[in-house]
Amino acid sequence: MLTLSDFRKAKEILNLVCACYYTYTPKKEKVITVLLKGIHHSYEPDDILANLQSYVQLNNIDNLRFLKVARFKTKRSVSENRHLSIYIVQLDATSQLRNLQKLDRLYHHVITWERLKSTEIIQCKRCQRLGHVASNCKMQFRCVKCDIKHDPGKCSLVTDGSIDKTKLFCANCKGYGHPASYRGCPVLVAMTKKIEDKKVELREKRERKTAHIHAYVQRNVSFADAARNKQSATNINKHRQATTNTIPNANWCDSASSPPLSSFTETFTNMFQNFQKQVMDKLNHFDEKTNDLLTRVQNNEKKTNYILDIIDSLQHR
Ligand SMILES: [Zn+2]
Ligand SMILES: [Zn+2]
Ligand SMILES: [Zn+2]
Repeated sequence: MLTLSDFRKAKEILNLVCACYYTYTPKKEKVITVLLKGIHHSYEPDDILANLQSYVQLNNIDNLRFLKVARFKTKRSVSENRHLSIYIVQLDATSQLRNLQKLDRLYHHVITWERLKSTEIIQCKRCQRLGHVASNCKMQFRCVKCDIKHDPGKCSLVTDGSIDKTKLFCANCKGYGHPASYRGCPVLVAMTKKIEDKKVELREKRERKTAHIHAYVQRNVSFADAARNKQSATNINKHRQATTNTIPNANWCDSASSPPLSSFTETFTNMFQNFQKQVMDKLNHFDEKTNDLLTRVQNNEKKTNYILDIIDSLQHR
């Protein structure tokens, strides 16, 4: 199995031979990004970082390593040249985010933390390909706007601040009329759909699994009791228990996530087969008893005939 040091060595070799490649940041090296809300925008990011670091140190909060604080910007805030009272905070990959809950005040302000998750597919600003970032890219530079080979920032398509839109070229779909950063590019649309389909598939798979488990789980029954085939005496609503005992898996009826019909049919087939087996066992047992009785009757009959024969022979003497 490849280790993190193997990965680093491979990267070093590829860099040494000036290979064209792109890669991904290993999970262990990925920084965690969160949003910090509640601090007025007049505070400087570096001061906030120093404050967070000293707070963690003074309060002995483990597994929270703050790396960077930056201002959160939107297109609108940039165009209007104003700061938002939201900051982006980076922590190292080993940080335990649940410890952030302990950090609920800063500069006497009540603060809140939110996980920042990108919902859009990332795009490399160097080669324009989808799914990786420029810091992990050693591919050849491709302009976001044109099909001419040139250095970054030297695009000839931009003249006097205006662009002829018909000459725009997309490096991903190789089409004219839009730049590679266009969110409606057919390559990006197709990849987004593929990812969405995969998400739906995984969610349905997870739901099917959960439903299957729910079909065999009874409420208020501990695992130990289930293993002993006996219901727990603790935390049991007696009335409910009586109901669940009368109808197998009655919790289906009020469960929000009812199991599929197949699980229901499967359980009833099992119940019916058990019942059938018990009846057959009883019938076989009854059959054996009947045969036994018949043999005894036949034996008695033989004995009776034998005695009758003796009596008959005595009478004829
Ligand atoms: Zn790239
Ligand atoms: Zn260009
Ligand atoms: Zn395109």
